[in-house]
Amino acid sequence: MKLETEGIVLSEMKTANDRCLLTILTRDKGLIPCFMRTGRSEIIKFGAAVSNISYSEFTIHKGRSGYNLNDAFSKKMFFRLSEDLGNLALVGYFDALLRRLVPECDENGDPEFLRLMLNSLYLLNEGKKPALLVKAVFELRMMAISGYMPDVLGCRGCGVYEGDEFFFDFGRSCLWCPDCCSGGDIARISRSVLNGIRTAMLSDPKKIFSFTVSENDIMELADLAEKYTLIMIDEIPDSLKYYKTMSGLG
Ligand SMILES: [Zn+2]
Repeated sequence: MKLETEGIVLSEMKTANDRCLLTILTRDKGLIPCFMRTGRSEIIKFGAAVSNISYSEFTIHKGRSGYNLNDAFSKKMFFRLSEDLGNLALVGYFDALLRRLVPECDENGDPEFLRLMLNSLYLLNEGKKPALLVKAVFELRMMAISGYMPDVLGCRGCGVYEGDEFFFDFGRSCLWCPDCCSGGDIARISRSVLNGIRTAMLSDPKKIFSFTVSENDIMELADLAEKYTLIMIDEIPDSLKYYKTMSGLG
């Protein structure tokens, strides 16, 4: 059976002398593990289309023993990402989160995973937003669409929605106002950081990056997004440690 789809190769693992296994994030079928021959002619034919900074079209054959790549064509290369080792390492972390959280061969795959990745690659490639902000929004939105949505609508105790100060509760995945907060594993957040969290997690997919925060608030938002993500996935990916080393944050 032939399958035509578009997406991004997230990883490539050598399996035998002349074959490797790609993990492809597709628009509507989740992740597809797909074998690719790695002879000289295939490498010339597929070229950059199987790199993790290319948005590509794939023709895949589904056989009894799995999926095999017949053809690949790059629609859009995010070339500038390869000029910055910190950005490349960040893409590697995004790849790892997607591999971990997107279901495999999902007939009803959520197209938002690919959309989120493409928007993030675009913003990093163009340098339109600080990398830390792109990382924070990516993490928060990934959590929201993967079933790890915290309750950020209002205070868990009294329901208040607006305020200059709130507390994010990592243990209970919710918010508290100063009057209702009784401690625990919490982080104080300002009005603008809460606005960033709500925009990233609750708004229309097209608008998740459309908020402004100060440099200090970016750090606060980034710390919260990363900590919440690591608690939810219950691990610290090696790719995150590598990103921190490469970007001087480690
Ligand atoms: Zn309250």
